[in-house]
Amino acid sequence: MPRIDLRSDTVTHPTPAMRRAMAEAEVGDDVFGDDPTVNALEERAAALLGKEAGLFVASGTMGNLVAQMAHLARGQETIASASSHMVTDEAAGHAVVVGTSMRTLPDRPDGTLDLALVAESFRDPADPHEPISGLVAIENTHAHSMGQPLGVAYTQAVADVAHAHGVPLHVDGARFFNAVVAEGVTPAALAGPADSVTFCLSKGLACPVGSVLVGSRAYIWRARRARKLLGGGMRQVGVLAAPGLLALSDGPDGMIARLAEDHANAHRLAEGLADLSGIESPGGAAQPAPGRLDPARTRTNFVIFRVARDRAAFLADLAARGVLMVPYAHGTIRAVTHYGITAGDVDATLAAVRAALAETAGAGPVPARAGA
Ligand SMILES: *Cc1c(COP(=O)(O)O)cnc(C)c1O
Repeated sequence: MPRIDLRSDTVTHPTPAMRRAMAEAEVGDDVFGDDPTVNALEERAAALLGKEAGLFVASGTMGNLVAQMAHLARGQETIASASSHMVTDEAAGHAVVVGTSMRTLPDRPDGTLDLALVAESFRDPADPHEPISGLVAIENTHAHSMGQPLGVAYTQAVADVAHAHGVPLHVDGARFFNAVVAEGVTPAALAGPADSVTFCLSKGLACPVGSVLVGSRAYIWRARRARKLLGGGMRQVGVLAAPGLLALSDGPDGMIARLAEDHANAHRLAEGLADLSGIESPGGAAQPAPGRLDPARTRTNFVIFRVARDRAAFLADLAARGVLMVPYAHGTIRAVTHYGITAGDVDATLAAVRAALAETAGAGPVPARAGA
């Protein structure tokens, strides 16, 4: 039986070259700033994104947390999209650790926020009742809208609104390089308008561990202090930074350019799913109205859909055929392509979906949608 794991791009295993780089990494005590591999990774990330400095952290969640701690004081407020990871998937770290509130705005199907609404969301700093607006945060790619990549012009427009109010812009770029590849721009161009950007090494870039935060030198110094406070100061951590350095390289072991394959495979999956009756577009927040799944919306490595069957039974039937997906927001299902998933795996997935749909329906094989 195949095992095709589409639950997330976090399930990727390190490449053979990464394993070798880990074994051979030069290391030192990183809390003393002595780990040459970590230093090289932080410098490479900063240079790539056009910022002064970088900071290697244990996870994307820690990256966003230290990013907020370095931008915000207690009692301040972040303006962010309602379905963003920072709001819904980080155990309220903004409240528990940073001591701030979130002003959440509705996400639109293209992954953007209404800029007029962003502008209206700043609090009155002269009113002692109100929190103090201190940060605007966006997510790129934007997960809940099916991984829409946000472009340079939009990022600049959000930054302009934030900066006009004297507030910085943070980009939660867990899948920042998927956006870079989908938009066909340089990482520095896409990061340019932002004051800070985090990206995950442990997702599409296939590293086992870690994220990097980039920004100005003074800002990253504050973030380094915040990382220490959280217990995230690690020692001979070059063994974990080594795969990241490789992933960000231009050579044959680099993992950025190949993300285009994941996008092509996700698109192939979306096209195949769109032709099946019993599969529908997701609906819900940050999605267009329910109807036929629109493969044109799969611009990166996410496919989100709704199944006209019992979702749990469908996922179990799929798993019994060796294909794993996850339940997602608003009753939907998510499949994510990544390193290790081939076009052949996508075709095998579609066959398994057809069979699972038929089984869950308790009827014969599901016919192709007429005229599709
Ligand atoms: C995965 C993810 C994170 C957090 O990363 P972890 O390494 O899982 O903590 C943050 N933001 C977004 C949009 C993500 O998808």
